[in-house]
Amino acid sequence: MAPVYLDHAATTPMRDCAREAWLEASTLLNPGGQYATGRRARAALEQAREDIASLLNCEPIEVIFTASGTEADNIAIQGLYRASDSRRIVSSPIEHPAALETVRGLAAGAGAEVSWLPVLPSGVVGVGDTLDTPAALVNCMWANNETGAIQPISDVVSAAAGQATPVHIDAVQAVGHIPVSFAQSGATTLAASAHKFGGPRGTGLLLAARSPAPTGVLFGGGQERGIRPGTADVAGAVGTAAALKEAINEMDAEMQRVAALRDQLRAGIISQIDDVIVHTPAEALPGHLHLSFPGAEGDSLIMLLDSLGFECSTGSACSSGVNRASEVLLAMGVSEHDARGAIRFTLGRTTTSDDVMALLGAIADVVARARIAGMAG
Ligand code: PLP
Repeated sequence: MAPVYLDHAATTPMRDCAREAWLEASTLLNPGGQYATGRRARAALEQAREDIASLLNCEPIEVIFTASGTEADNIAIQGLYRASDSRRIVSSPIEHPAALETVRGLAAGAGAEVSWLPVLPSGVVGVGDTLDTPAALVNCMWANNETGAIQPISDVVSAAAGQATPVHIDAVQAVGHIPVSFAQSGATTLAASAHKFGGPRGTGLLLAARSPAPTGVLFGGGQERGIRPGTADVAGAVGTAAALKEAINEMDAEMQRVAALRDQLRAGIISQIDDVIVHTPAEALPGHLHLSFPGAEGDSLIMLLDSLGFECSTGSACSSGVNRASEVLLAMGVSEHDARGAIRFTLGRTTTSDDVMALLGAIADVVARARIAGMAG
């Protein structure tokens, strides 16, 4: 039996339309070439840029192709910090490591003073008075990768605007899954990643307003407004545009279908198993279900499920495999004991009702076995 894949927030299978578009564009040459083949490659790159701009409601010049969501976060956060005279950064503490470690790196090595936004038990950041003082940037994700909680980015952006502080949004989990408009968001920079919505792995997007623009942190030939120099990956850009177009076309129907399956999974788990803590709040990405089974170890749950053909994760890329409680859950006030029993199911485009029913048939026994095995030391 093929594995039941329930880790769509980690990566989701590439869409056929993206694979076909990628393959066709893979024969194109250097978009910087001043001859016919160069012009052909440049035309394809610029068409992808225009398509993405219209899908995410920004100007084509604001679309910068990067090699990952991680790279987009790094360029934006480090670049906005360098572009400012202020040494202050305001950040949510529940960011993905791509953003969180960048902020911490600037604090450790470049003199940044970091003010952290408060986090409510729901997994949503609070817009406190930290935003009333100007800063080099405010960093806040659109939706959390572990819990799926949608963050109050419009409140964050309007509070920051009062101090003319630029805002970077990590929208890696949001783009292609829920409506995202860069113009409407009012953000200065926004990161996305193609492999989260069925595009090729290893292609990211940085949307960057004309001003203030991040100061370059990579140096090279000046491509992508000098913000991300290096010969552009035309096939990656073309595949990304194709995937995003299909994701946005199916978004309304998929949001409803996937959320209904997720709700069915949550209800089925709660009805069969005692002492379940649901970390995913009501306002969340449609495919996310993050839970704790106190007394079980997240990694045991994952291994037992894997042995039965169910693929899922604890939710936090850097905590899986090392038996560490998620920083996101701890920031929400979850105890270390409960946080260690966390597991994340993320449903997506290929998830079916049969997948959910199969998991519901297996989960109670898995949790019971993991609880008997108990917590590792
Ligand atoms: N930001 C968030 C919220 C993510 O979930 C991820 C990937 O899991 C990233 C950034 C990093 O994206 P990439 O895998 O493209 O580097």
